[in-house]
Amino acid sequence: MEGESSRQPGTLSEKATPFTMEQLSKLKSYFEEGGVEKATILIQQTLEELDKIELNIAVTGETGAGKSTFINAMRGLRSNDEGAAEADVVEGTMEPTVYPHPNDSNVRYWDLPGIGSPKFLAGEYLKKVKFERFDFFIIISACRFKENDAKLAKEIKQLGKNFYFVRTKIDQDVYSMSKCGGNKINEQKKLDYIWSNCVNNLKKVGIRTPTVFLISSFEQNLYDFNRLNKRLADDLPYIKKIVFVLAYANRSVEIVQQKSKMLQERIWMSATISGGVGAVPVPGLSLACDITILIREIIYFRKCLCLDEASLQRLANITEKPVQELKAIVNPLLLGKIDKNIIVRLGWGATVVAISALEFGLGFIPVIGSIFGAGSSFLMTYIMLTNALKDLTESAERVVKVAYGID
Ligand code: GDP
Repeated sequence: MEGESSRQPGTLSEKATPFTMEQLSKLKSYFEEGGVEKATILIQQTLEELDKIELNIAVTGETGAGKSTFINAMRGLRSNDEGAAEADVVEGTMEPTVYPHPNDSNVRYWDLPGIGSPKFLAGEYLKKVKFERFDFFIIISACRFKENDAKLAKEIKQLGKNFYFVRTKIDQDVYSMSKCGGNKINEQKKLDYIWSNCVNNLKKVGIRTPTVFLISSFEQNLYDFNRLNKRLADDLPYIKKIVFVLAYANRSVEIVQQKSKMLQERIWMSATISGGVGAVPVPGLSLACDITILIREIIYFRKCLCLDEASLQRLANITEKPVQELKAIVNPLLLGKIDKNIIVRLGWGATVVAISALEFGLGFIPVIGSIFGAGSSFLMTYIMLTNALKDLTESAERVVKVAYGID
């Protein structure tokens, strides 16, 4: 088995910035032509573009296969939560239903029912659901491999779209095994058998390297659920990957750390904007900075790290922990309204000393390092946001450990 075939846990450790090398050199020339102000415009545009990026994910499969439950799991919801896709519904329609991600409504899952009929025509079906709008397809299958799944997979591939074949309800297979006296070795053999069966059936219809994952929508930290997420993220264009990953529900410390790295990559951009215009002295802070940008970014970090009220509640629901227990391990100042008083009280700016941007490890963005020196609003904002992100990340790690009982 190779690639997605080898069913080993993956790692989530990449560094990401919405700025490619090409954009960085553009930034440099903007700066040379028009100084910080012109460079700031480009950064602002990039951040605005990032806000508008949409991700449309098609989830298809036969009625009862587990589409709704999967869509809920991907969004950190249970089937009876507000905004959840209803499970166990007898589908009488072929109309796609859209389910936005609660962490970011630009990440949208589409439930595409209706592939069950015996006369199923994959090509017509894909035309009808307007396949072009989807970034990729996930085919959900349970129990036996179905002919319609294969037909659809082949057609999606022919249309040049990515698809992932997800065999769900694996927890049920494992449970049945244990009832028949199976042990861990037998369990692994059975999982390998199911996986090979899916791969071989897809190969039979001409798909050379099928991507098959075995998951349970109820046991997300077991089997291939996290590996599937990693693969989906890795296959996306860079900028969409950021959007997809930052919307993840926190299921592991690794996920929290991956998000934190991505957020860290955006700090220099916010800091540059703040270093350009709008910096004012803030009582209680040693230097001038743009408090509006600071507050906006900290609230955004908190949401991405799932420490906002709604995200904590969803995590509590899914892990069946009292929400108060999770809140108790978060610094109380981070839970309430974020305003300038809180920022001063948290002391994130206290470490600003005479230090140059280059010394602070910003050498990777040469143009920025040369614009701003010690004492600038840039540096103040940079350090404050870095400290804020560190505190929020540590809290998010503690929360996920308690929620999932991770040591
Ligand atoms: P849909 O018709 O494709 O949307 O399927 P649903 O999501 O409504 O799921 C059908 C049934 O399968 C429901 O009773 C779910 O609770 C159950 N189900 C879905 N996914 C899983 C899973 O991963 N494990 C188990 N044990 N049951 C599941």
